[in-house]
Amino acid sequence: MSDTAASPLIIAIDGPAASGKSTVAKKVAKKLGLVFVNSGAMYRAFTHHVLENGIDLATDVDAVLKCLSETTFDCGQEDGASTIGVNGIELSDAQLSLTAVNDNVSAIAKIPEVRERLVAEQRKYGARMPGVVMEGRDIGSVVFHETPHKFYVDASPEVRAQRRKAQGIEDEILERDKQDSSRKAAPLKVAEGAVVVDSSEMTADEVVAEVMKHLPTKSWAEGAALIVKKKRDMNFVYWLGYTFFKFLTWFYGDYKVINREKLCEDKDGLLIASNHVSFVDPPVVGIAYRDAIYYFARKTLFDHPVANWVFTRWRAIPVNQDKPEISSLKRVIALLKGGKKVVLFPEGERSWDGVIKEKAEAGIGMIVSKSRVPVLPVRIFGAEKVLPRGKNWPVKGKIRLVVGDAMDFTELLESGELKGKALYEEISLRIMREIATLELPAETE
Ligand code: C5P
Repeated sequence: MSDTAASPLIIAIDGPAASGKSTVAKKVAKKLGLVFVNSGAMYRAFTHHVLENGIDLATDVDAVLKCLSETTFDCGQEDGASTIGVNGIELSDAQLSLTAVNDNVSAIAKIPEVRERLVAEQRKYGARMPGVVMEGRDIGSVVFHETPHKFYVDASPEVRAQRRKAQGIEDEILERDKQDSSRKAAPLKVAEGAVVVDSSEMTADEVVAEVMKHLPTKSWAEGAALIVKKKRDMNFVYWLGYTFFKFLTWFYGDYKVINREKLCEDKDGLLIASNHVSFVDPPVVGIAYRDAIYYFARKTLFDHPVANWVFTRWRAIPVNQDKPEISSLKRVIALLKGGKKVVLFPEGERSWDGVIKEKAEAGIGMIVSKSRVPVLPVRIFGAEKVLPRGKNWPVKGKIRLVVGDAMDFTELLESGELKGKALYEEISLRIMREIATLELPAETE
């Protein structure tokens, strides 16, 4: 990977456990204004998920692979550092460094299918960002083997053991290193062309200075600000559905987005709030965007394994409509914080006649207050005639998606004026009112 204007800037820092590479990578990222990515956290997150599912790693690789195929990874960013969620639930540092995770992560990381999947996620992540400092075991040798900026940070086994102990973490690092270096798939090794730094006798800042000496930092700082890479974040199954609905809207005639420029396509973390008039509303909103967005869907729709497979890939989040579970809400909050876009229908259920309900579910207010993302009000016109509630087959007709101005609730949230349920209800109410004010411009009526 070269530093051309179209490529993200990638710095790869590899090394064994507790060599200090994380601290160094974080500091280098901060100095250069790039995003720090801890690739080990992804292996840890999946290990945590596997353990939570009660799978026996030693004997049941098939179960691990099945679990992998049902898992989505949500790689986000907060304050310049990567965050990781599994099936929409973000994991804390404490969860990622549990002793059980330390003890099992290397066994998980040596499974080739797991590596293949996580390497793909890491590459996607790198491509989405203007630049990253990614640390791990195979970043310079495999994940970004083309980058000219590779480092290998090492330290003696004694120093590394001391560093772990000082962190108060129980971690059999020597055993992990043995497994990481001896595995067949992408073992820990010094990548070709990597600068090796032995940090045993050095402070973190000295290692950072050493790394910086090898980087053309001035041109980078300028470049990083300029490079915003636009890549689609859409899996194949989503793309199929997306293309199918685009085809349908073309076939059935008449679909338009009014105020397309207000869609906030570039916004990381956006809650799209729409009125709900028809079964086709989710794709009506979804196809307005270039990229994949997330949806809520009735939990019962996931009952059949095939439907479950498809809906998961369509980025649908199962929700119990009568009583949304806290886990669904948490998942959405994690997705939003991770920079995703989620569409939600605050009225809860479809309207029979296209008339907007005055009252919204307080859940949306809660999501906004916990995720602190802006809300984009949109209003759908005409879908209630194309596919009315209670009908199974669409008829030809006009569908319009009118996009409003993004709403920012920071002031209300920070004022502390309202709290808890009252706050959630106020936010929900304001959103519903905003949706209701959106009208069809005269020329398109
Ligand atoms: O870096 P950290 O110690 O958190 O990584 C945890 C484990 O994840 C490593 O011991 C290794 O087994 C695995 N890993 C990997 N490849 C990476 C990063 C981590 O195999 N790029």
